[in-house]
Amino acid sequence: MRHRIAVVGGGPAGLTFARVLHRHGHPVAVLERDPAQDARPPGGALDLHEGLGQLALDKAGLLAEFQALSRPEGQAMRILDAAGTVLRDWQPSPDEQANPEIDRGQLRDLLLGSLDVRWGREVVRVVPGTEDGVLVHYADGEQETFDLVVGADGAWSRVRPAVSPVTPQYTGVTSVETSLDDVDTRHPDLAQLIGDGSVAVYGVNRSVVAQRNSGGHVKVYTKFRAPLDWHAELDLTDVEAARSGLLDLFDGWAPPVLDLLGHGTAFVHRPFYVLPVSHTWAHVRGVTLLGDAAHLMPPLGAGANLAMLDGAELAESIAADPEDLDEAVRAFEERMWARASRWAAITTAGLERLVSPDPAEALALFDQVQPS
Ligand SMILES: Cc1cc2nc3c(=O)[nH]c(=O)nc-3n(C[C@H](O)[C@H](O)[C@H](O)COP(=O)(O)OP(=O)(O)OC[C@H]3O[C@@H](n4cnc5c(N)ncnc54)[C@H](O)[C@@H]3O)c2cc1C
Repeated sequence: MRHRIAVVGGGPAGLTFARVLHRHGHPVAVLERDPAQDARPPGGALDLHEGLGQLALDKAGLLAEFQALSRPEGQAMRILDAAGTVLRDWQPSPDEQANPEIDRGQLRDLLLGSLDVRWGREVVRVVPGTEDGVLVHYADGEQETFDLVVGADGAWSRVRPAVSPVTPQYTGVTSVETSLDDVDTRHPDLAQLIGDGSVAVYGVNRSVVAQRNSGGHVKVYTKFRAPLDWHAELDLTDVEAARSGLLDLFDGWAPPVLDLLGHGTAFVHRPFYVLPVSHTWAHVRGVTLLGDAAHLMPPLGAGANLAMLDGAELAESIAADPEDLDEAVRAFEERMWARASRWAAITTAGLERLVSPDPAEALALFDQVQPS
């Protein structure tokens, strides 16, 4: 088989797809908008679940390397109320491998390995059904044709319009994230509060979660219900203004929780958008979608896991039936849609409970899903 296959996007979905397809001996062009591997900070740690992200890494032949890098102790979770009272303090057993954490940068490096990524290749449009296959238009005006174009280009996919008119919608919940560096030395009290994993604090319609990454780095995520333009009067690029705006939003919360925000160094606004829970499309020959491009859902610990398993399964489906590329894609799509709609329903309901008028809902959800 020598199909011309391209994947747009070098995130968890696109890289896993390329790795697994390579493992089966098929070449694939990885087209990534970022100009270089280290062009932007990779973001916070991810927990990879046994039956999802870890399964995908196994299919990529990378599970042992993941296990050597990941932090099972990062699964620890402490839950507080807004007054600072500890409500739950869950520690994983030493051999707990259900959801170990890995830094996004480490995961990306692992998946990249010896893959040949075409950096700085921004796709602006994809046109299926031309005489020579699927036409890809690049931002620099160049064009190229492939037999299959896989859109793994995230929430604001430029490939998606070739198969579906649907666009992401705002959930009504937004997030501002910040981070702390060198927490064990600079903020030992906060380091103790966070422990080896995460601390989550739930109040009325808002929450703060601090998550330890490797190297003493901590990501702090606030979530709250607000209209999209809630910060119209606030310049979030002005660190002092953003900090004081956030402290106002969490006014009255216990001092250590406010310290997590008060020591933040830069603030990033990330409103939560989603695609419809059961997003499918009429199959289009030569184009498909993976990961957030196909099924953007609230970020409750599933998106990267699903994106990776999508990538691995599409690659395996192609490798199993290389003569009939279109049938391999069709079979994959049916399986992805079924799994994604289940998870979209779970995470949508989960977001309602985690950012709820009744903070007891978040605690009840934790008790429901946490291994005892
Ligand atoms: C705060 C937060 C915390 C999260 N925590 C978790 C977690 O713990 N566990 C979990 O499983 N999920 C988590 N998620 C969700 C997870 O980040 C996403 O679901 C996952 O990254 C989706 O992977 P992807 O490869 O589909 O897309 P992306 O990660 O968005 O990657 C898309 C890639 O495509 C590139 N690209 C975009 N447009 C173009 C273009 N036009 N041309 C070429 N390249 C392009 C981008 O540069 C990027 O490299 C979290 C999300 C957020 C926001």
